[in-house]
Amino acid sequence: MPRETGQTKAARLKKIITALDRTYPEAHCELDHRSPLELLIATILSAQCTDKRVNIVTAEFFKKYRSAADYANAPLAELEQAIRTTGFFRNKAKNIQACCRKLVGQHNGQVPRTMEELTHLDGVGRKTANVVLGNAFGINAGVVVDTHVARLSHRLGLTKQTTPEKIEQELMALVPQEQWTLFSHWLIWHGRRRCAARRPDCKECEVNKLCPKIGVEQRRRNSE
Ligand code: SF4
Repeated sequence: MPRETGQTKAARLKKIITALDRTYPEAHCELDHRSPLELLIATILSAQCTDKRVNIVTAEFFKKYRSAADYANAPLAELEQAIRTTGFFRNKAKNIQACCRKLVGQHNGQVPRTMEELTHLDGVGRKTANVVLGNAFGINAGVVVDTHVARLSHRLGLTKQTTPEKIEQELMALVPQEQWTLFSHWLIWHGRRRCAARRPDCKECEVNKLCPKIGVEQRRRNSE
């Protein structure tokens, strides 16, 4: 793909968005939740773990712990045991409890609705805050950059940045704000269903003609 101007990149991105929207009209957050608190806890649990595994664990976990106070007052060992299979369970349990103690002490037991307040909670970085703001409150405060979003942004030639923070800043400058939450869903869904880390299915890909396939081995670009 020849060197792009900002204008041609924006036009290409617009076509990518149209194609992904058409391909995944039902794209949504795949972590099961019924409240902002459940989504916050599920997102903390999803670090280094699949959404599928988190959903199996939270199906029981959320029946037992229903409020921030429930997590704040639970014996730590009990929390650890309940989330053991999500990995890094000691750290996650410690963060969930400390986070919920702050919710109880500083936010009346409710999940706050601003990036600043959310990122002051234990175990909550920009990514988790973006997930909660975008999916529980409908607030487009940023773009969630997980492993799929980082990989696809790079392959699609949208950024050369390598840290999630810098990738997010570039995507925020490129994608219309009202689509920030959806855009990360589209890339995550496409990453899971078509553009896998090791075996991207370029041949069948819905954005094949719009993608420079940066970093993809030649043999995988088998439709060019
Ligand atoms: S063309 Fe290949 S590298 Fe590009 S998004 Fe599709 S599957 Fe991924």
